[in-house]
Amino acid sequence: MIPTIGILGSGQLGRMIAIAAANLGMRAHIFAPDADNSPAGVVAAFCTTASYDDEAALTAFAKSIDGVTSEFENVPSASLAILAKHLPIVSPSIKALDTAQDRLSEKTMAQSLGIATPRFWQIDTEQDLQTALAELDGKGVLKTRRDGYDGKGQLRVSSSDDIHDIWAQMGGKALILEAFISFETEASFLIARDKSGVVTHFPAAENHHKDGILAHSTAPAPLADEIIADGQKAVEAIANHLDLFGILAMESFVTSKGEIIFNEIAPRPHNSFHWTIEGANCSQFEQLARIVGGLPMRHVSMSHAWRMENLLGQHAEQIAGLQSMDEVSTHLYGKTGYKTGRKIGHITYPLRDSDDKSYKVD
Ligand code: AMP
Repeated sequence: MIPTIGILGSGQLGRMIAIAAANLGMRAHIFAPDADNSPAGVVAAFCTTASYDDEAALTAFAKSIDGVTSEFENVPSASLAILAKHLPIVSPSIKALDTAQDRLSEKTMAQSLGIATPRFWQIDTEQDLQTALAELDGKGVLKTRRDGYDGKGQLRVSSSDDIHDIWAQMGGKALILEAFISFETEASFLIARDKSGVVTHFPAAENHHKDGILAHSTAPAPLADEIIADGQKAVEAIANHLDLFGILAMESFVTSKGEIIFNEIAPRPHNSFHWTIEGANCSQFEQLARIVGGLPMRHVSMSHAWRMENLLGQHAEQIAGLQSMDEVSTHLYGKTGYKTGRKIGHITYPLRDSDDKSYKVD
């Protein structure tokens, strides 16, 4: 029988999981409020368009699939709990979703595992903000605890700023204040973990952001072996702590002293590992489809350095030129309407020797 994997969410990550599943001889079933004609829906065998709290639709969905995963961490964990009543394979785990949905929970977890984080403060009131800014005594980043992505819901602040102004811009939501880390670079670590707790690591990626959005990633990250080992140890401790089933990325800052400082986790495929489609023997999407579809994981390796650059709405005019280049692989997500600052696709290409090229004009 052909296994069918269920995917909660209809965006580009779901699309790339569905394509990987098809390559493995599986089928994908997308469940999302906007599944029809979505980036994932158009490449999947089946779609259910329903809300994440529709218990009857979730139950019918569960009965049509062999295992399920989520392409984004903000799906309600109650939806996963409903699916878990009917399915033996539910990825990434309720604990992983709950923790990753809240910046305060994920930093508290990292701290409890002995992983370095920026100093942080829980902010619920203007008084909390005042106290925290006084303790911060310098620069910080004020973030919404939930639902922020691509730099949205964030404000750079300083302890000398006007508190009323900051509160007027950000108040009214649960917030976290973090000390600003003056980092040397940013690195992400990706791990896969199966039902029996066996893990595989992907080569780490070095990341560059522009306007809070990932611009490009290079792998393997050109960092000392000890730094990579520290990052991999941290992401493995997190995966074990969360009873992860599937894949999980950890974003971190790397200081000039070579210290890894935890930023956040995502228990799903991560933008900084899209190069794995061409650059590694097994992509992050294939590894996840294997785990959810009941196939063994592969040991991941790569033979030379690789780069991924994101394409945003404002890069649409460059697509035709990029698609005509022999060395460049283009991936478009099939989105309708290109918006400035929104991801519409990505490119990948090999980096040889100490190349530091870029194909995209920015
Ligand atoms: P985030 O959404 O938390 O991943 O933040 C997006 C980007 O903002 C990060 O990748 C960093 O480039 C920057 N950033 C976030 N938090 C901090 C921090 N505490 N210190 C310095 N830069 C930060």
